[in-house]
Amino acid sequence: MARIGFIGLGNMGGPMAANLVKAGHEVLGFDLAAPVLKAAEESGVKPASHASQAVKEAAVVITMLPQGKHVLTAWTDILQSTAQGTLVIDCSTIDVESSRRAHEMAKTAGCLSLDAPVSGGTGGASAGTLTFMAGGSEEAFAQAKPILEAMGKKIVHCGEAGAGQAAKICNNMILGISMVGVCEAFALAEKLGLSHQALFDVASTSSGQCWSINTYCPVPGPVPTSPANNDYKPGFAAALMLKDLRLSQEAALASGASTPLGAQAAQLYALFEKLGNGGRDFSAIIEMFREKA
Ligand code: NAD
Repeated sequence: MARIGFIGLGNMGGPMAANLVKAGHEVLGFDLAAPVLKAAEESGVKPASHASQAVKEAAVVITMLPQGKHVLTAWTDILQSTAQGTLVIDCSTIDVESSRRAHEMAKTAGCLSLDAPVSGGTGGASAGTLTFMAGGSEEAFAQAKPILEAMGKKIVHCGEAGAGQAAKICNNMILGISMVGVCEAFALAEKLGLSHQALFDVASTSSGQCWSINTYCPVPGPVPTSPANNDYKPGFAAALMLKDLRLSQEAALASGASTPLGAQAAQLYALFEKLGNGGRDFSAIIEMFREKA
């Protein structure tokens, strides 16, 4: 079992660290927010007074932070305190450029590094069923895999530095676009007098099928577990979808890729957030396509 330093114990990091404790690892944690650190302590994480204290003598360090700037600041601190050969893993969803810079910093410090963003949300983090999309060397991935397995059920090595972040934002760009398409179709069906169930029964078994309709249907009824049945409580908050769509657009701009529908989806989610919906599930965007919105 390993000694693990865990930085960022929020909605995702907290339950992920708790699963590492359950798997028998010694986890030293740090978060800037005192109540978050206290909650982690209750799940068996040993609280540290500073990031450097949490990572000193750790064989593995994991960060789970909001954005690229937080990761780069934290890694600058961390890499001053870790021994050469330490494996540093970033599980946050951040821009590809910052992720690649973090890998370079780790290389300069003589550490192994992996970007390993997740999908599965807070439910997956608590249940230990996250999917990890990893970028980095074969050696870093091989060392990280058994650690990540304590927090997830699917671990995919996507390629070299930054490839995990690239896979994450491409996947979520598909999701944002497909959800908008499914919502538009249900709004049109309502105008045409077609029932939700009828559209679901046809589209979920025909060429329109996709995760946004089959698993996460944006209207109440056809899929009883979807957030539409629970007043659009997230789930996956619209603000997080907007964050990921913006990351995809930054990456498209930087790489010269053409993503017109991704750009449109980002604009629609920006408007939806501006209307006060950032904390609601991202499937609630269907309301924007109805007359009352
Ligand atoms: P969160 O805001 O709940 O947690 C982030 C934590 O980082 C906070 O507790 C904050 O105090 C702490 N923090 C910030 N800077 C720090 C620093 N320098 N040192 C120590 N602690 C610091 O966010 P979250 O929902 O846990 O998300 C974390 C990451 O996971 C984000 O990149 C997000 O996009 C990604 N993600 C979230 C979900 C989700 O459903 N919440 C799903 C997939 C991916």
